[in-house]
Amino acid sequence: MNAPFRLDGQVLDVAIIGAGFSGLCMAIKLKESGRTNFRVFEKAADIGGTWFLNRYPGCACDVPSHLYSFSFDQNPNWSRAYSPAPEIWRYQKVTAEKHGVLPFIRCNAEVARAEYDEDAQLWRLTLASGESVAARALVAGAGILHVPFTPTIKGAESFAGKTMHTANWDDGYDLAGKRVAVIGTGASAIQLVPAIAGQVGRLDLYQRTPGWVIPRMDYDFKETSKARFARFPFLQRLLRNLIYWRAEMLAYGFTQNVKLIGKFQKLAETYLAKAVPDPALRAKLTPDFPLGCKRVLISDDYYPALQRDNVEVITDVISEIRSNGVVTADGRLREVDAILYATGFRVTDWLSHVDIRGKGGRKLIDDWKDGASAYYGVAVSGYPNMFLLLGPNTGLGHNSVVFMIEAQVRYALDCMKWLWAGAGSVEVKAEVQDAFNKDLAERMKRTVWMSGCKSWYLNADGTNSTLWPGFTVTYWWKTRAAAKRDFDVAPAVVPQKVAA
Ligand code: NAP
Repeated sequence: MNAPFRLDGQVLDVAIIGAGFSGLCMAIKLKESGRTNFRVFEKAADIGGTWFLNRYPGCACDVPSHLYSFSFDQNPNWSRAYSPAPEIWRYQKVTAEKHGVLPFIRCNAEVARAEYDEDAQLWRLTLASGESVAARALVAGAGILHVPFTPTIKGAESFAGKTMHTANWDDGYDLAGKRVAVIGTGASAIQLVPAIAGQVGRLDLYQRTPGWVIPRMDYDFKETSKARFARFPFLQRLLRNLIYWRAEMLAYGFTQNVKLIGKFQKLAETYLAKAVPDPALRAKLTPDFPLGCKRVLISDDYYPALQRDNVEVITDVISEIRSNGVVTADGRLREVDAILYATGFRVTDWLSHVDIRGKGGRKLIDDWKDGASAYYGVAVSGYPNMFLLLGPNTGLGHNSVVFMIEAQVRYALDCMKWLWAGAGSVEVKAEVQDAFNKDLAERMKRTVWMSGCKSWYLNADGTNSTLWPGFTVTYWWKTRAAAKRDFDVAPAVVPQKVAA
């Protein structure tokens, strides 16, 4: 996408970073509220965030599409329960177009720095191109799973073959007949491996920790079902609600009563026993932590793929990579043509790629060095007029983050209404944010995520700044309106022109 607008020195009402589900939702809702003086800055070449960037074979969403989509723009035409990434991306494009927000989005526009100018009560943004723009409010919708993580492995730079990360896929590379190493066995790998196992000559899967897998039970939607959803939208809403409440039930086990997880784990154990008859392979694939501690993997075709003749699950630690292959701790070299990293994202230093500076020049990266924290994941003390989407402790292990995004957009817009009414700055009170996070940390202790496994949900010190430790319906309820008593709402220093 080309730049549809120029930065001509005007002061925006809102500058939005990122055009994934978060940024799109904010743009749509701002426009719906009648406000048009906003712009969206997207680093990538097109909109869509995760669903544009992740193009590896098999990429799909493990939350059913009827729930993983905007509540205000339901799509009756989803092809299957768990739609593939390109279909989700098309949905985002069509939705953005339908709501008329594409002209407000500039792609290939990376925000490198955002600094709060206290005197002017403005955020001053500098793009990687050197251009600058000012805005009264800053919305950071950059996403949490965004910066690919590639582990440092001795000799990796000497590898002469092809190297790709799942989040940095080269569509032009032909895997047919190739010998490949896949490193990692998380949510991305379990989609990638079945999708390529039939094409490649050999697939060595390097597993450090096995995860719990439950069947996906994916299914197609027939044309008659799609027509029915289009004709009777309440049927689709009913399905969405059923999926939503089924997912919410999991939250009870994950966050309130970890013992209940045992029953669910039995299902995963039974599935593993049935799907993998070989006891040696089954032992390799059996996790030693409670289900839910790491993200639950949802797949119908992962276990079958691992039992193909051309696939080997390797649990020996990788000691080195040489120009021609991967060496494990037992000294064995397995030659490969390509190494595919399915090793996830840098999560806990989220937003570190944008230099965000708040009051007095304080840096967000410093304030968050021991773990990110915010108020309902949206507002951060010391950073007035800044609103995060999918910020700290609002990720999920059981439900749709699009639901969380919609709640956050509603909450952020509720805070912004004070600005539009003439205030100059809105900042969550430090004591309110601290009390919120104290309570959150207490609730977090009871969750399955803190039951002892190592996961990307956790910071280096073992705290969790990633997930919401409760029901999403509770989050939705608590963020339905912003309470003025929680914020310092200061008058405008310079009378603000209230733009439409
Ligand atoms: P991930 O869950 O962080 O998994 C990374 C994998 O790489 C793990 O198996 C990890 O092993 C392994 N790994 C990392 N460093 C390694 C090393 N040095 N040697 C060997 N193995 C190493 O990443 P992901 O699979 O990309 O998924 C990340 C998140 O993205 C998911 O949890 C999910 O939230 C999201 N996602 C969602 C979908 C979806 O359908 N909605 C699809 C894909 C991804 P350890 O477990 O031992 O650390």
